Amino acid sequence: MHPITFTTAMTDRDHLRQLRIPTKDNPLRIMMSACLSGITCGWDGTANGEYPAALRILKYDTVKVVKFCPEEFSFGAPREMCDIHGGTGFDVLDGKAKLLTESGQDWTEGILKASAHMLDIATQHQIELAVLMDVSAACGSQVIYSGSRFSEHKVYQIGAGVAAAMLIRNGFKVISQRDYASLEILYSKIDPTHVLDTSKIDHHEIEWYKEYFKTT
Ligand code: SF4
Repeated sequence: MHPITFTTAMTDRDHLRQLRIPTKDNPLRIMMSACLSGITCGWDGTANGEYPAALRILKYDTVKVVKFCPEEFSFGAPREMCDIHGGTGFDVLDGKAKLLTESGQDWTEGILKASAHMLDIATQHQIELAVLMDVSAACGSQVIYSGSRFSEHKVYQIGAGVAAAMLIRNGFKVISQRDYASLEILYSKIDPTHVLDTSKIDHHEIEWYKEYFKTT
């Protein structure tokens, strides 16, 4: 039995459909997890893998990408792996859960500081959409771990990481690199030649998600 602790940023396709058609002179302002853009800011000094569906965003001159890594901002890279204990990113914002490292260090204060900084950047740049790396305790927006991912019986929960929760709570729209249907809509906005592929689905629609979280 896997608990559903908090339903957060289900992909808001209506918001994506309402995004304006940008131009070179007035590009769409997108915030991106720095690692998703290829920057090696991950906990192990890598970019956490390659996600072509998100990387493609960088190719368009109709987009202005603002990259930020909240964990690197506060803890550097490489660093320990961290996960949220006792709730979701929203609970961390509310003082009800903590961000702990693998060795038990409490990084709550640092991630709150980084999340506030990320919000400042998003506000300053008038971000219209954030595309963030899912499962991260900072950037996750659909699924995150509940407690340590290295525990013998690791548990996932529906929820947002701390930085993503900060953005969502302040009115910013967040999608993940695995929300392929949403990314399709985004590409139809930023690329006039893009033909919308309606067969694509978002992460909360995949079989694993539906089965694991018993959402159907
Ligand atoms: S905190 Fe976010 S940007 Fe930084 S490595 Fe983790 S997922 Fe990527």
